[in-house]
Amino acid sequence: MSVLSSPYFHDEAKAFEHLESIVWADGIVCPHCGVVGGRVYDLSGVRGKPTLKTPEGALRHGLKKCGECRKQFTVKVGTVFEHARMPLHKMLQAVHLIASSKKGISAHQLGRILEVQYKTAWFLAHRIREAMRSGDLAAPFGSGGGAVEVDETYFGTKEGRRGAKAGTAHKFGVLALVDRETGTMRSFTFDKFRADEVHPIVLNNIAREARLMTDEAKMYKKIGREFAEHGTTLHGARQYVDYKDRTIHTNTVEGAFSIFKRGMKGVYQHCGEQHLHRYLAEFEFRYNSRQANGIDDRGRARAAIKGIVGKRLTYAA
Ligand SMILES: [Zn+2]
Repeated sequence: MSVLSSPYFHDEAKAFEHLESIVWADGIVCPHCGVVGGRVYDLSGVRGKPTLKTPEGALRHGLKKCGECRKQFTVKVGTVFEHARMPLHKMLQAVHLIASSKKGISAHQLGRILEVQYKTAWFLAHRIREAMRSGDLAAPFGSGGGAVEVDETYFGTKEGRRGAKAGTAHKFGVLALVDRETGTMRSFTFDKFRADEVHPIVLNNIAREARLMTDEAKMYKKIGREFAEHGTTLHGARQYVDYKDRTIHTNTVEGAFSIFKRGMKGVYQHCGEQHLHRYLAEFEFRYNSRQANGIDDRGRARAAIKGIVGKRLTYAA
């Protein structure tokens, strides 16, 4: 027995049941007319068009018919899984692998494990990452007066800037916020480390009653006055924790960055700028649902699956 011996990782009918139990936990929703908990018929035994591989036609799992609008649907409609042609049980394996590998997993490796082509694995991984993207309606960090750490980092090389060495203009910029009380992070990309890019992020995501924690960068000085308290450490002078007040530091957010950087280096070596926010969302998701926050691999995969609703993705390959 192992985690991956659960039937829904191998049996297509069980995979549909598993997804239904998560997506329709509060009753079946018809994706066509939106009716919740209405009359729904199970259409079992229906087969698709005959093909060379399956002359009798493939069994259509999880097929339902809405009693209100008379249209057919499955639990995949309206989710990131909808147009993927891979069997659902394989996609659930992929969700589990991505949700449980701390540093992420490359599309090449995912493809080898699932025995699908690289491109297929790549699309699937992006679908799952989209499911992990956190909602925008969450409460601001530091609500209730807790400490929120803010820091920026740079990594990688932007397209067309391969020769550049010095400075940061040729690198991707990422700003991260960590709410120390809940242990959760939010990350954002920026083009230039300038007030007009950085200040709105800080102001929109952190409650004014919070204790803001940053390094001594000038950028944070002015905005620090907007908050109940602004603690800074002098990284230039190699001071990482305030000598008098040991709660003044940015070590948590720097720890999160180091996990992110190790993952980007080791697993996702070539990340195009247009996809960066998705990789960030994946790391953010895994960080926020990590073991220290009381969530195990199974719970993390479940949370990722919950996120698939209403997130259809199309790619202009
Ligand atoms: Zn309907």
